[in-house]
Amino acid sequence: MNECIFCRIVAGEAPSSVVLRDELMTAFLDIRPVTPGHLLVVPNAHVVFVQDLPDATAAHLFEVARRLARALRSTGALRADGINFFAADGEAAGQEVPHAHLHLIPRFSGDGFEIDAAAWREAAPTREHLDKSAARIRAAAGVRQGDELKAPIN
Ligand code: AMP
Ligand code: ZN
Repeated sequence: MNECIFCRIVAGEAPSSVVLRDELMTAFLDIRPVTPGHLLVVPNAHVVFVQDLPDATAAHLFEVARRLARALRSTGALRADGINFFAADGEAAGQEVPHAHLHLIPRFSGDGFEIDAAAWREAAPTREHLDKSAARIRAAAGVRQGDELKAPIN
C-alpha cells in the first residue's frame, strides 16, 4: 500500500472532502483547517518539492488555486476577506506531508491566524546586504546582472 497520504487520497483509498478534481490536480479540505474552508491543492502525481513538478503541472496548480480562491471570496462560498497561498516546501519549511501541495487559507478579520518572525523584531538589513543576497541568488539561478527582466523561467 502507498504510504503517502496524499497519494492515497488522490487514488480514492483514503477519505477526503474533495472540491475539485481533474487529470492533474485534486483539491480537498484540510483535515485540520486553520480557518473554515482551508483547502489543499495537490498534484495527482507524487513529487516532494514544488520545483520538481513538470512546468505544465505547476502552471495548472496555480490555475486551479486561482479558480478556488475566486470561489472562496465569492458570496456563494465563504466570502473570505483575503486568502493566504502557502506552500511548506521542505522539512525546514514545516512540510509534514512530503507530497507537494499548496494551502489556500481563507482569511477573515480577527480569525486568530498569525504569521510571525523573530527577524521582524530586529533592525532591517542594509541595502548592501540585500544586494549581496540578490547577487548570490542570481548567480545560482543563472541570471546575469542586467538580465533580470528577460531571465528564462528554466
Ligand atoms: P504541511 O506539509 O506542513 O503543508 O502540512 C500538511 C497539511 O496536510 C496539514 O495542514 C494537515 O492538516 C493536512 N493533512 C494531513 N493529512 C490529511 C488528510 N488525511 N486529509 C486532509 N488534510 C490532511
Ligand atoms: Zn504522494
